[in-house]
Amino acid sequence: MENIIETKNLTKQYKDCTALEHADIIVQRGEIYGLIGANGAGKTTFLKLVAGQSFPTKGELMLFGTHEQKEQERQRKRTGVIIEQPGFYPQLSIEQNMEYYRIQKGIPGKRAIEETLKLVGLWDVRKKKGKTLSLGMKQRLGLGIALIGEPELLLLDEPINGLDPAGIIEIRNLLRRLNQEKHITIVISSHILSELEQLATTYGFLEKGHLMEQISARALQEKCGNYLEMKVTDTERFTVLLEKQMSHDRYLVLEDGTVRIFNPGQEVERYSAAAGKNGIGILSMAMKQCTLEDYYMNLKEEGKKHA
Ligand code: ATP
Repeated sequence: MENIIETKNLTKQYKDCTALEHADIIVQRGEIYGLIGANGAGKTTFLKLVAGQSFPTKGELMLFGTHEQKEQERQRKRTGVIIEQPGFYPQLSIEQNMEYYRIQKGIPGKRAIEETLKLVGLWDVRKKKGKTLSLGMKQRLGLGIALIGEPELLLLDEPINGLDPAGIIEIRNLLRRLNQEKHITIVISSHILSELEQLATTYGFLEKGHLMEQISARALQEKCGNYLEMKVTDTERFTVLLEKQMSHDRYLVLEDGTVRIFNPGQEVERYSAAAGKNGIGILSMAMKQCTLEDYYMNLKEEGKKHA
């Protein structure tokens, strides 16, 4: 599989802040790569470096197989970008905005505009002015502009931010289609993990500029598995019992005292039996399927433990 983006030790230092540190990130052709991280984790910084909107302090960035800066500039024509606000002119109509960017990007033929506007579902409203668009339409116009010139790679920073549920579904379906039918590789950042979970094929978890983990959706699913959630009358004694008597150290205690036991095995009743034997009462007990959010929270906790 071809690596479209490959970074080694990629580092971006601002005056008093290291926005990205020693990041080794690989994005393969055909992937939808989900960038996950809290505010300030370095997601936008990474996307800007790849888009050529900013330059690394240290480290290497390979884009479409080249390290060479001039060549990368040329290769960036194969990339569509939405970082921060999608830029368009409020006084111009959707169609005029598209035309402006078509000319700016040096793409011949007006047909490209019709095709792209149909693809993003804006053809019927193409006469509407930029300033009168709903947020969903603005996002779609941003995507339309990014798609001019048939890019092979899309870099999308929070493209579903602020959309209503219907808008989110529309954009999700559109991105899936672009990936599956047009074979566009997508790097997307989002705070809405349940959305990324439905879309991404690989995840990169960033925390304070560090890449905590990069993992395929399939591997995550296998690793994540099920967990048993228990609320007991004495959490502290129960976790000691888990570790010392049952030799099970893959657990997490949530803020409200709920204990999450990962990969609990077949006979989950042994946990309740052990608690009972030690005089610990059980308030609730349920098997759950691990979600992307669970995995992320767990990764953060593990990170804190090892910090
Ligand atoms: P968010 O989810 O809030 O968009 P993010 O993960 O995209 O966050 P970045 O925007 O990459 O995070 O920011 C990473 C860190 O770098 C933050 O601490 C931010 O304040 C800092 N930073 C970003 N751009 C600059 C800049 N131009 N000058 C100084 N510091 C910056």
